[in-house]
Amino acid sequence: MTMPSLFLSHGAPTLPLTDTPARAFLSQLGHTLPHPKAILVISAHWETATPTVSAVESNETIHDFRGFPRALYDLRYPAPGSPAVAARVAEHLHTAGFPCTIDRRRGLDHGAWVPLLLMYPQADIPVLQLSVQPHLGPEHHLRIGRALAPLRQEGVLIIGSGSFTHDLSEFRGHGPNDPAPPWVNSFADWFDAALTGMRTGELLDYRRQAPFAVKNHPSEEHLLPLYAALGAAGEDAHAERLHASATYSVLRMDVYAFGGSSERMEPATPKVSFATA
Ligand code: ZN
Repeated sequence: MTMPSLFLSHGAPTLPLTDTPARAFLSQLGHTLPHPKAILVISAHWETATPTVSAVESNETIHDFRGFPRALYDLRYPAPGSPAVAARVAEHLHTAGFPCTIDRRRGLDHGAWVPLLLMYPQADIPVLQLSVQPHLGPEHHLRIGRALAPLRQEGVLIIGSGSFTHDLSEFRGHGPNDPAPPWVNSFADWFDAALTGMRTGELLDYRRQAPFAVKNHPSEEHLLPLYAALGAAGEDAHAERLHASATYSVLRMDVYAFGGSSERMEPATPKVSFATA
């Protein structure tokens, strides 16, 4: 069965420990999707000069953050890797003209394991990661995603993991269920309209066209995984918002599913749960 591709917002590393609408949503999301053969996560937390895919037999859990509660460092997500699927990723990227390095050591950063811990707590589906290249911008990541689109037919769930909005300079002093301010929501509304309207040209030029774009994304690495997920649905992609909420006021936790226009998102996509007020 052809898998959809997903963009999800992974929030603060404490997401698994904090009662929020996004945690509740991600906790049931896995049940609504076809069972994947493997999961490829394009994570905002792995930046390299050229595309790099992880290919390990067994994933280590990388606690790539500091100053959080002890309980978070005790969490593990010991999913197997898949060197075979990693080789397919490299093949598809090479065919499309991209370089691709295979990393035989790297485990899972929190952009991957935090949402997967909620979606697939058994940690029994092979997981691999693909890095982002923030200096190369949205179009590069859209093209990377398009190169990987055939993997969806092979049962690979492609997930872009980042944050729909991500101004960490405004993060402190807020609680996990504080509502988003207008400058966050107006960016999210613009982006949602451009995505669901499939206005790809505007999406690629979002830094100039979207309200408060640079304020919400002082750097781009947390939005670029979205372009990879969008690209993975092909040139005739359509987007569906599955979830919208905010955490710590400035982090929108929106989740999108992408598919080709002829594909139904089987078996059933969950209903949108709005909690942005
Ligand atoms: Zn992050």
